[in-house]
Amino acid sequence: EVIGGQVDLADLPLREDLRGRSPYGAPQLDVPVRLNTNENPYPPPPELVADVARAVAAEAAALHRYPDRDALALRADLAAYLTRATGVALAVANVWAANGSNEVLQQILQAFGGPDRTALGFEPSYSMHPIIASGTRTRWLPAPRRADFSLDAAEAARVVAEARPDVVFVTSPNNPTGQSLPPEELRALLAAAPGIVVVDEAYAEFSAQPSAVRLLAEFPEKLIVSRTMSKAFAFAGGRLGYLAAAPAVVDALQLVRLPYHLSRITQAAARAALRHADATLASVAALAAERDRVAAELAGLGFEVVPSDANFVLFGRFADTPATWRSYLDAGVLIRDVGIAGHLRVSIGTPEENDAFLAASKEVAQ
Ligand code: PMP
Repeated sequence: EVIGGQVDLADLPLREDLRGRSPYGAPQLDVPVRLNTNENPYPPPPELVADVARAVAAEAAALHRYPDRDALALRADLAAYLTRATGVALAVANVWAANGSNEVLQQILQAFGGPDRTALGFEPSYSMHPIIASGTRTRWLPAPRRADFSLDAAEAARVVAEARPDVVFVTSPNNPTGQSLPPEELRALLAAAPGIVVVDEAYAEFSAQPSAVRLLAEFPEKLIVSRTMSKAFAFAGGRLGYLAAAPAVVDALQLVRLPYHLSRITQAAARAALRHADATLASVAALAAERDRVAAELAGLGFEVVPSDANFVLFGRFADTPATWRSYLDAGVLIRDVGIAGHLRVSIGTPEENDAFLAASKEVAQ
């Protein structure tokens, strides 16, 4: 018997708008093959592990003092990485970081959304966008993608011009469908948007498209490009997300961020991981090649496969999607039911994990 266990959620004076909502809940199940949260399947190399341990040990001696509130050294490292990755010269003042890009996105809606404001996204997309909107009391405006899940850029610009949302989310490559939008196609949408446009590039390293960062000079008062170390960098457990924007946007986020939100341990570990970026990112090409193999084999088995530019593949069609998800689980393979009728999403794993998934797919296809 847990103390307080007789009280349930309905007994609490919860905000009306949160009643009946469900929390984000990708199942965390202990099965042999976990391909459900788009992580990098390769653990960090031993040199990186040793470097993180050394850096964290050095910080441990200073844990009685708060960390650098502005995380300047880490932001300088992230700016250098992003400059290298995109060819766009970014300064420390252009970069902000938080505990995962989810926290970055929350800070953006705390500053630019909120009560009496709206945020618009093109669905299906990342399920946390409307959840973070709800948590910050930002009214969510869902807008459609095409039937094949690609984004019609001209139509998107028209919808934004008409709805005039305070914040627009464009996920590129899009989770859970996989397609990305070339930066040139974002231009009309940026021109039409009255407020902020967040391009969520959580999977950018896996994509052949250039980053929207190259549009920053043109739309400094509107564009925010959000990134994460959770996917390509194999740092999901470290919790580090970041963004590139005009310095004034970073000033705005400092009004809502909690002081010392990035611990000394997080800052030191992320900086150590960034020193090994070349080794970690070497997995990206292998994962992209495996994605293409998995997609081709799924198509060969007769599945409908949505073209993907990321480290996951959406496929179908299933008459009973929850039952099919369960068949994979029974075969020891955890994939994701993202709530799109007739479809499931599989994250790309190691070749062995992908083979286990494809073997289970063969059974499912019968
Ligand atoms: N954006 C997108 C599109 C994602 O898929 C994810 C992770 N699933 C995130 C943001 C958040 O990731 P994190 O908080 O780990 O950076």
